Amino acid sequence: ASQEPDPVDIRSAKRHMGDVGVVVEHYNSRPEIGVVQRQDSPIIGLKNFNNWVKSVLITRYAHPALETSAVRSEGRGRARGKVLDMGCGKGGDITKWAKASVKELLAADIAAVSVNQARNRWEGLRGPRFDATFAALDCYTEPLSKAFAPAKLAQPFDVVSMQFCMHYAFESLQKARCMLDNVSRYLRTGGVFIGTIPNSELLLEHLDAIPPDSKDISFGNSIYRITFESRDVRPMFGQKYWFFLKDAVENVPEYIVRWDNFVQLAAEYGLHAIYKEEFHQVFSENQDHHEFKPLLVRMKVVDNDGASAMDEDQWEAANIYIAFAFEKR
Ligand code: SAM
Repeated sequence: ASQEPDPVDIRSAKRHMGDVGVVVEHYNSRPEIGVVQRQDSPIIGLKNFNNWVKSVLITRYAHPALETSAVRSEGRGRARGKVLDMGCGKGGDITKWAKASVKELLAADIAAVSVNQARNRWEGLRGPRFDATFAALDCYTEPLSKAFAPAKLAQPFDVVSMQFCMHYAFESLQKARCMLDNVSRYLRTGGVFIGTIPNSELLLEHLDAIPPDSKDISFGNSIYRITFESRDVRPMFGQKYWFFLKDAVENVPEYIVRWDNFVQLAAEYGLHAIYKEEFHQVFSENQDHHEFKPLLVRMKVVDNDGASAMDEDQWEAANIYIAFAFEKR
């Protein structure tokens, strides 16, 4: 007879997995619910807005790099360029890469279940197909060459994208270096590195605003909460907090990414910052754009009358993040 594991054993196993284990467990166990059920999420407005920001970032920074790509397909019309999606998750950006008419995509994530869902999403794409290779890899401790054959890496990338995932690498200098090496090693000169990460300045401002005698070192609202591990310790790497976002993230350990620290380290890998903006600012800069304004309606961020799908708490949570772009020189 099969034996159920003792819940106490599971708890202690989880403790021994460490933070990476908790992150993998969390993302692997989140069900794939499909687009229709997704619309029932209590934070669907925020999810749609995050997706719109990624679309804006990809259109503004990835499309030009793909257009100047050396990898042009012969006889396949408009297809152009090669992308690495690191921390691809369930493949939430696959359709954005299809719209960008990429020729080839390599996608990796530490959560193997998510990687399979991403591959399924690619297989289910309608319209013109592009080549794609998916791999499970801890991109912050292992080189890309462990997951992808040399032939897959021979032609450099035009774009490397890391959406809502780079901050997990800031647990240690060693991990941040491994991540940046993976970003830069196969990125062509003139290629771009884009991403979205929590806004360290905002997070630390909130931490400073917590009264010194308060035992609770957290802040948030009805849909999100950030709980710091410690009030005083401010290391360059490994400054931990737990993130809770209703219907999305359940108290997963994350790390502060100090922007200046990140920029300095990235420069060692030939990566130079060309854009950094808070999500609220991304919205105000692009909400009236001829292409991104109708996209707000199509992506259900606002309705036909221009009313937002986000309540105030979701709008506040949206600005936890910043979007960035770097150029390889
Ligand atoms: N980029 C996707 C998106 O925008 O929909 C997924 C974002 S999800 C919030 C964060 C992802 O980071 C998870 O899929 C997680 O497994 C991945 N991740 C965390 N640590 C990682 C690591 N060491 N190597 C690769 N992926 C990692």
